[in-house]
Amino acid sequence: MGKIVAKFGGSSLSDAGQFRKVRDILVADPNRAYVVPSAPGRRFDKDDKVTDLLYAAFRLHRDGGAWTEVLARVEDRYRQIAADLGLKLDLEAELRRIRADVESGASEDYCASRGEYLNGLLMSDFLGFAFLDPKDCIFFTAEGQFDSERTNDTLSAALESLPNAVVPGFYGSRPDGTIRTFSRGGSDITGAIVARAAGADLYENWTDVSGFLMADPRLVEGARPIRSITYRELRELSYMGATVLHEDSIFPVHRAGIPTNIRNTNHPEHEGTMITHNAEDGVNPYVITGIAGRVGFSVISVEKAMMNAERGFGRRVLQAVEEAGLSFEHLPTGIDTLCVVLETAQLTPVRDRVISRIMELTSPDTLSISDEMGLIATVGRGMIHNPGTAARLFTALSRERVNVRMIDQGSSELSILVGVDCCDFEAAIRAIYNEFVK
Ligand code: ASP
Repeated sequence: MGKIVAKFGGSSLSDAGQFRKVRDILVADPNRAYVVPSAPGRRFDKDDKVTDLLYAAFRLHRDGGAWTEVLARVEDRYRQIAADLGLKLDLEAELRRIRADVESGASEDYCASRGEYLNGLLMSDFLGFAFLDPKDCIFFTAEGQFDSERTNDTLSAALESLPNAVVPGFYGSRPDGTIRTFSRGGSDITGAIVARAAGADLYENWTDVSGFLMADPRLVEGARPIRSITYRELRELSYMGATVLHEDSIFPVHRAGIPTNIRNTNHPEHEGTMITHNAEDGVNPYVITGIAGRVGFSVISVEKAMMNAERGFGRRVLQAVEEAGLSFEHLPTGIDTLCVVLETAQLTPVRDRVISRIMELTSPDTLSISDEMGLIATVGRGMIHNPGTAARLFTALSRERVNVRMIDQGSSELSILVGVDCCDFEAAIRAIYNEFVK
């Protein structure tokens, strides 16, 4: 095995005890050359995440509130970790500088990024690894878009001369040197970027769960872990609500052909979930890999006799949707009907406008909207060229008396999507799981 990049999430670094677990994990495999830390997360149920406190301190300073009290709580978290680990760095100097920067009106992104910056400094001191500040090697454009190629060139050159390094997650800089963060949870993205730049053989993402489960454990008790999944399957599942990894962290490693392993810092003996470009046949014992779903969708159904012969009908319906600033999820069609599936929360504020615009542009015979739909994706590379999977799925749903309102199977055969009434949503997920897994 060549180099490994190991990213540790906030719960993996919430206190000194967690830092020690991380060191043990790194010592256990010397290939773990580069470490990407998040900011300290919650230590217990009602605890605050450092990043949330930093955002709060920024807002309080901006609005003339008691920001120093909140910042003091952040400072104490780091003081505690540094003292418990007996670290030597001059933490107080760093804390003074950050406090002065907040006082003189530092940006929101700068404030938020200090959680990862400080944790990176502590980690590098604790491990004896070099500290690489992302402001010098992870770049955004002036407009705030991630600049992947400039980053990759600079970062790979920097890593080449460092056998070990800590690269804090979540942020980088714009061309004028100001700090810019990724969206929340963005340390996952930094980890993937570092893995690509290092030419790593593996990207390990260490968190507080032992990988993905085949279904949401709140809905399916004892849902089984997914040992192996492809990036494409993962994309289908995360789009439908399965969240462990930041969605944007998939692309850099997927493109570079680097597998990602989701691991549990509190249970390093668990193998976790391995995400690969092409999953080896046989590792997944089931036809399906996972089930995910979300509720809160609306369907606009437009009906017009002889629609099939009317050129541009679909385009005009979608024009109305686009003009209202909406993005649609699915587009099931019949001979004389066209349905647009959208998120209800997006649709609600512009509902009347969209309806009247569709009427104006297409003069349909009828137009109706129904809400309260849930979408469920059943995903699995094992379904490809495997006759009978859809039949099993629909039989399972009918056995539970679930009314299927919409069906969509992508031509890739990688997933089957069904739309059901919200009230049937949980029963439907359980029915599919029991059919294929139990
Ligand atoms: N600390 C940041 C957040 O809470 C980034 C991360 O943890 O990935 O969103």
